[in-house]
Parts: sequence; structure tokens; C-alpha cells
Amino acid sequence: MALLITDECINCDVCEPQCPNDAIYMGAEIYEIEPSKCTECVGHFEEPQCAMLCPVSCIPLNPAWVESRDELLLKYERLTAAKAPAEPVVITK
Ligand code: SF4
Ligand code: SF4
Repeated sequence: MALLITDECINCDVCEPQCPNDAIYMGAEIYEIEPSKCTECVGHFEEPQCAMLCPVSCIPLNPAWVESRDELLLKYERLTAAKAPAEPVVITK
């Protein structure tokens, strides 16, 4: 499951820089989570960092994005591969 930010968010700026997947961004009024990028921190940390650090506890699971741990791991691998720099091109003569 991805997580989501409710309208109790006070825009404290704590969660956004802590997300290892860059899934958190400032929306129209409050921070939001892009669910296709949220792995519940699976692959990076034992606990969802944003939910752990949020001072007003406004980051629950997103019931619209139900995923198993295996699916979250696959998502993590896909996101990590997309972030990895391209292989260097070796030119031989
Ligand atoms: Fe980012 Fe982890 Fe929070 Fe998902 S649970 S938004 S991956 S910090
Ligand atoms: Fe909003 Fe919580 Fe993130 Fe602060 S940590 S910006 S209150 S969701």
C-alpha cells in the first residue's frame, strides 16, 4: 500500500526531504504523496519514514492502493533501476 497525507497536514516540511523515493511533493494546499512512487519505504527502511516523523500523525495507509510486500519490493526495484545512472560507454579501438 502507498501512504496518503490527510488534510490535517500543517505543511511543516518535515516529511518531503525524508522520502527515499521522492514521492512527496507540495500540492495545491498541502503536501501530497504520489502513490506510484511510495513503497511504504520497503527496500530502504523498516518503517515508513514520513509517517514516523510527522508531528501530527496525518499519514495513514492509502486504501485505494493495496499492494503486498512483494509488490512493494518490485516497485522499489523498478524505481531504483530508473534512478540508476546509465552504464558508461567504453570505447575501444
Ligand atoms: Fe516516501 Fe516512505 Fe513515506 Fe512512501 S512511506 S511517501 S516511500 S517516506
Ligand atoms: Fe504535513 Fe506531516 Fe508532512 Fe509535516 S510531516 S508536511 S504535517 S504530512
